[in-house]
Amino acid sequence: MSAALERELRALVGDGEVADAGDVRFHRDATESQGLEGVPDAVVLPADAEQVAAVVAWCYAHDVAIVPRGGGSGFSGGAVPVDGGVVVDLQRMSRVRAFDPLLWRINVEAGLRTGEIHRLARENGLSFPPDPGASEQSQIGGNIATNAGGPHAFKYGVTGRWVTGLEAVVAPGELIHVGGPIRKDVAGYDLKGLLIGSEGTLGIVTAAWLRLMPAPEAAAPVAAFYRDARTGCAAIETILGSGIQPAAIELLDAGALDAARDAAPFTVPPEATFMVITEADGSVAETAAVAAELREALADGALALHAPATASETAALWRWRDGMAFAVSAIRGGKVSEDIAVPLDRLADAIEATLAIGARHGLDACTWGHAGDGNLHSTFLVNPRDDDELARAHAAAVELYEAAAAMDGTISGEHGLGWVKRGHLDAQWSPATIGVHEAIKRALDPKNLFNPGKKR
Ligand SMILES: Cc1cc2nc3c(=O)[nH]c(=O)nc-3n(C[C@H](O)[C@H](O)[C@H](O)COP(=O)(O)OP(=O)(O)OC[C@H]3O[C@@H](n4cnc5c(N)ncnc54)[C@H](O)[C@@H]3O)c2cc1C
Repeated sequence: MSAALERELRALVGDGEVADAGDVRFHRDATESQGLEGVPDAVVLPADAEQVAAVVAWCYAHDVAIVPRGGGSGFSGGAVPVDGGVVVDLQRMSRVRAFDPLLWRINVEAGLRTGEIHRLARENGLSFPPDPGASEQSQIGGNIATNAGGPHAFKYGVTGRWVTGLEAVVAPGELIHVGGPIRKDVAGYDLKGLLIGSEGTLGIVTAAWLRLMPAPEAAAPVAAFYRDARTGCAAIETILGSGIQPAAIELLDAGALDAARDAAPFTVPPEATFMVITEADGSVAETAAVAAELREALADGALALHAPATASETAALWRWRDGMAFAVSAIRGGKVSEDIAVPLDRLADAIEATLAIGARHGLDACTWGHAGDGNLHSTFLVNPRDDDELARAHAAAVELYEAAAAMDGTISGEHGLGWVKRGHLDAQWSPATIGVHEAIKRALDPKNLFNPGKKR
């Protein structure tokens, strides 16, 4: 099957654009430490949208599954070809089609890395605010397919808010365009919104028009350490209640703080078991004013504050925060890390529930995440070679989904369902709501060939 398939694909896209299906780089994503992988029947790296359309048309005509792949940094197994199929890797499609800095907009192909968009914007005095943690690995197409967030989504929103137009290939191999270099568009159903966050299950994004904004003049983080989670979460509510608008509000509980304590580029008080990181931004004057208000709000009940004084101290703080996933993984070699989101007044409950669920399953647990959005990386630590431990962690994750739903939350605030959370929508949705979801999938992908088994 594979040799014949590869021959067919070579005829469509040329020899150089069909990769070795045995190459393990195409078998995994960031869920690797959970042991998830799959072997595709073929891997194709199209050079342009027309080639993507030709591959999809061929797959659709021959009933072959299509697994879109961006940077492979996803935490839900979405890009993993668990049941084979053709991996369509977008990495070669990384052109900037148009860039109009004076109009705050850019048109890029799906395979352009997120970090490259940040750099282009910055060099022109602009900002593309969505900042998911793996931005040097992830691609804008993957960010759009997962509607990725990040620390600064609290003030600036998730990826979808910055997408004004999409080009995509949908069944049975049609290249479509919705939106464009326009800032408003209510002409038809929100097809753009449907494709954003669809995790490659409704089509392949090939290019996007993105909105940019003038870069804030200044940014000033203010962090605080607390004796316990309840006091730290109360400080977060104080910030909101005071009407202060930080760009980011992040939290780390005791386990997360311990994992990264030794690597911290600042002093962590020994008795601290909870940390809140906020950031003020805007004009120089506005940043200073908001930072002062943040210091005041966070001081209540805090053991200590840390406010970086220089750009390099600020960069060091965020670099340290970005390394959290790796620091936690390093403790036992692996982790089952979730991304539930709960209402803001349930943050402390969700953190305590994660520890209690972990304890019931004999697992160490910890939480860090985007507190301002109620979005928590509730995590169970595992040895990835211990099947029993992995099974207990997956059972714990299912309990966590139920706990999040019981708090009026969601089982996924940013990574999506992918493969790892498949079958769990019913934790938060009624059969009727799931029926609408399934009807959309059937309407856009009647043969169930786009990333089958994912996001359902
Ligand atoms: C260290 C680390 C930190 C992270 N921090 C964050 C964070 O702060 N916020 C956050 O939201 N996520 C975070 N993530 C998760 C991940 O980076 C995001 O989900 C990211 O958007 C995935 O992009 P990708 O290009 O790597 O996609 P992939 O992992 O390749 O794919 C993800 C999903 O999108 C689909 N897909 C990819 N490209 C396309 C396309 N062009 N068209 C259609 N479907 C496509 C795939 O089929 C899959 O279902 C983090 C990951 C790591 C490893």
